[in-house]
Amino acid sequence: MEYRLFLTVIALFIGASIGSFLNVLIHRVPLGESVMYPPSSCPQCGNRLRWYHNLPLLSWIFLKGRCAFCGEPISIRYPLVELTGAAIFGIVVYKNPSADSFVIALGFSLIAALALIDLKYKAVPDSINISALFLFIAGAPHIMEALQNALLFAGGFSLLRITVGFYVSLKEEFRLKKRVKEAPWLKSYFKIPPNVEALGEGDIPIAAAIGALLGIKAGVFALFLAALLAIFVSILSRKKNPELPFIPFLGLSMFIVYIFDENVTNLLEYLLHG
Ligand SMILES: [Zn+2]
Repeated sequence: MEYRLFLTVIALFIGASIGSFLNVLIHRVPLGESVMYPPSSCPQCGNRLRWYHNLPLLSWIFLKGRCAFCGEPISIRYPLVELTGAAIFGIVVYKNPSADSFVIALGFSLIAALALIDLKYKAVPDSINISALFLFIAGAPHIMEALQNALLFAGGFSLLRITVGFYVSLKEEFRLKKRVKEAPWLKSYFKIPPNVEALGEGDIPIAAAIGALLGIKAGVFALFLAALLAIFVSILSRKKNPELPFIPFLGLSMFIVYIFDENVTNLLEYLLHG
């Protein structure tokens, strides 16, 4: 028990620092900037931050959410991402106090960064996506089995993407043809047949990571849960956000199923077989 608490406290500290690095990833990688150089500076006044301005969570609290040089407010997103990193590491390591858990927690941290990038840009950088997948395979107890499940899920998800894309495109084609029939002059405005993407390409490595971490049964349940959450949110926010990013749902479901493993798979068994 003491060993577990000791590792969890270390995990919280490491997680907060990783969260600090995630802020850098989220802001720089989509813009194609280096994550190592230059060191962090205030986006308002450009002054380079000292090390004591850059302590995860603590600096934001001591500076009362303002830049030490110009006094401009610093977004609450920075400490929230640091807190997310700490929470991911703390929960994952507490659940399973081992060295592998630090690798898994790092993988989840990268997925959290991907989720936030996806929310903003509706696309994610492959560099982070593939790194996350690599971490989940490397952190698995049986690497060959994890690799096999990752490939299975990547393939299954690609097939699903083609199938759903085909269905959505077909539906769209019928809709456009109907409109052209009513008003033939619209023909030059539409691309027929249309090519509608229903699921993003960036979802495939995440699906592979789900397979690697959770295995087939719990992995399928995580995908199911992600779809359920996404449908629920899209019904609530349809008009505001017609193109809902899927990675936040995949990441959240993956985390929930991983942390509550037997509890959620038992629930699935219960729902399927009574
Ligand atoms: Zn400033």
